[in-house]
Amino acid sequence: MQLSETVKLYMSKTEYALVKVTMDSYISMVNSIVSDAVNGTSIAKLTTKNVNADLPSALTNQCIRDAKSIVKKYNKACRDADRKNTKLAKQGKNIKVIATRPVLKKPCCYINNQSFKVNGNHIEFPVMINGKSKRLSICTKMTDRQKSIFSTSKLGTMRIVVKNNSVIAQIVYDADEPVCPDDGNVMGVDLGIKCPAVSKCSDGSVKFYGNGRRNKAMRRHFAAKRKTLQKAKHQDAVEHINNKEQRTMKDIDHKLSHDIVATAIVHNAKTIKLEQLQNIRSTTRTSRKNNHSLHNWSFYRLAQYITYKAKLAGIEVLYVNPAYTSQRCPVCGDVHHANDRNYVCKCGYHIHRDVLGAINICNSTEYVGDSNIRRTA
Ligand SMILES: [Zn+2]
Repeated sequence: MQLSETVKLYMSKTEYALVKVTMDSYISMVNSIVSDAVNGTSIAKLTTKNVNADLPSALTNQCIRDAKSIVKKYNKACRDADRKNTKLAKQGKNIKVIATRPVLKKPCCYINNQSFKVNGNHIEFPVMINGKSKRLSICTKMTDRQKSIFSTSKLGTMRIVVKNNSVIAQIVYDADEPVCPDDGNVMGVDLGIKCPAVSKCSDGSVKFYGNGRRNKAMRRHFAAKRKTLQKAKHQDAVEHINNKEQRTMKDIDHKLSHDIVATAIVHNAKTIKLEQLQNIRSTTRTSRKNNHSLHNWSFYRLAQYITYKAKLAGIEVLYVNPAYTSQRCPVCGDVHHANDRNYVCKCGYHIHRDVLGAINICNSTEYVGDSNIRRTA
């Protein structure tokens, strides 16, 4: 499994200038290759020899790869738009979908694992100095955990990018996944809005996580601030608020997923079951969560975090069909909605409605593929 670690780069003015020029050349090179491809030039056989960039050859190589993958995505978006337009025309609607042509604006560059080196507190990578490729050794602040990861793992590409006025390096690495074949407990986890997560373990234990009301209040707070700033046309401040909200939400999801996996470990769970989230474009309503498609992305992220943290702890994650998990009686199998906070069945069974989902997920054996859950670095 691939994960990434972020470190801040501390540079002198001269070093910063060199890195900035490298990032600018990188994105302008990528943009120029993409624009050629979009205008009909074949880039399939493009190599560092055909590209005239003021960049170390390793970075030029990465530029070409990057451009190729952007073009591939763009071509797919074009095909999707065509298909959608045919559909819209059939429905007699006079609107058209256009795939936006991708242009990199924020300075960044990717460096492959053969071209950079982590050396103690420093990261070494090549930049151009007076037309020649030379290696810089940039000071960073790494935690002991990061140092140990970088010295023991197989590293992937490094991305250098500017975020909130600092230059950071994101380094991808291969993380080990321990395998525990012995039988253990199963834990079902139900994600929701009012109650962010509920777990039910096959040993009978139930646990609630997070505070939905507080999350909602926080979202409202950010939305109100954003509105004021937008009215005052403070675009930078709006972006700042957006970043802050994203960081806060990610932080909450990291804590929730950490607590869920920690509980699974305490209860000797070897399997965590989650609901397979529906594709956000899907119109099928198989779960109450799909009535809140806006929230689907946050469920998606939390599910991803749970998945990778579980894998790191040697716990398998399985996805089950979300249909009726909040409506089916686990005793008699009858399907009906819950009233208020309680689910009461005519067979006499009753339970807190938020626990019902976790119980049904825990019991479910209707497994579905995990193609909707992917990790992005
Ligand atoms: Zn029943």
